Amino acid sequence: MAAPKVAVVGAGVIGLSTALCIAETCPSCSVMVLSDQFSPNTTSDVAAGILIPHTYPGTPIHVQKQWFKETFTYLFAISNSAEASEAGIHLVSGWQVFKNTPKEELPFWSDVVLGFRPMSEAELQKFPQHRFGQAFTTLKCDCPPYLLWLEKRLKATGVQMYTRKVADLWELHSEYNIVVNCTGIGAHQLVGDEKLFPVRGQVLKVHAPWVKNFIRDGDGLTYIYPGIHRVTLGGTREKESWSLSPDPGTTKGIFDRCCSLEPSLRAAQDIKVKVGLRPSRQCVRLQREVLSQGGVKLPVVHNYGHGAGGFSVHMGTAKEAARLVGECIAALQGSSSRAKL
Ligand code: FAD
Repeated sequence: MAAPKVAVVGAGVIGLSTALCIAETCPSCSVMVLSDQFSPNTTSDVAAGILIPHTYPGTPIHVQKQWFKETFTYLFAISNSAEASEAGIHLVSGWQVFKNTPKEELPFWSDVVLGFRPMSEAELQKFPQHRFGQAFTTLKCDCPPYLLWLEKRLKATGVQMYTRKVADLWELHSEYNIVVNCTGIGAHQLVGDEKLFPVRGQVLKVHAPWVKNFIRDGDGLTYIYPGIHRVTLGGTREKESWSLSPDPGTTKGIFDRCCSLEPSLRAAQDIKVKVGLRPSRQCVRLQREVLSQGGVKLPVVHNYGHGAGGFSVHMGTAKEAARLVGECIAALQGSSSRAKL
């Protein structure tokens, strides 16, 4: 069989990282990224990009932990290299604070992040409305620079990128041997996945260079995540809302909530508002499927549905998707050698 042609559909953090893993693990493949939007116009560009996992109820915890660990290890190495600032990756320390002590005082990811410990009484004095807290150091991606860095890595490995809206995965069967579906919330329409739903998120990106520590309310709604250039203030979680228009009342609410956690933010400047739709599902869809029409087959690998935690697990799920592509190639090679007999 000639070099397998692989189309990765989607150019958010999932599509780009998956294409990179496939190109690196299968150098004989010809990999292309097809997408109707690229950075800076994807959901991934809106994200805060902090590495604090979201829990997927339908995925075993040990699998989620493995995905997070692989992603953390990958980004930690970048943060510790000369490329850190271009890639937009940096370590950030801070606090997750709770109004009431959570049932689970040790989250499953506590031994993956660095220096996880309960907050001291003295630290908690900064948060008079909160009774319990966790201090740790994690990683943060500045999302648009990280996506551009991934695109640059892809071009350097010979991966080509084309702007194209795919109406039906089957339309790719005559041009490609394998299709990888990384379309995020777009999969709702593309493959008619009724289990996939949007969770709308509105965030503010502000200039406040004196804010150095992250602060996250344990309810997950209010957060302050300092990046290299701007601080992300959040947020909202609106299930089944498809609206991409910023809401001015929500902007004020987010700003007030964040100022009550970090009063110095009242002096923040140049407030920009962004909205994105988290591609949410009970579990990430990471599986093989074979489409078939009139005896012709097209192997597909799905990798979408990362909800509120795509940055936290992207390299782990990209590696698994690349492994599934390897299985598709082995199956194609098996069937082409059987056909020659
Ligand atoms: P997208 O980034 O949406 O990429 C999908 C791609 O597919 C796009 O390029 C799109 O153009 C393309 N596409 C779709 N349909 C088609 C089609 N038919 N044909 C061709 N191309 C198509 N996660 C974290 O881990 N940490 C955070 O701090 C964090 N903060 C967030 C804050 C907000 C406000 C939001 C909204 C999300 C946040 N997330 C965070 C979640 C994270 O952003 C997502 O999990 C992640 O971006 C999903 O990536 P994706 O590549 O699957 O989707």
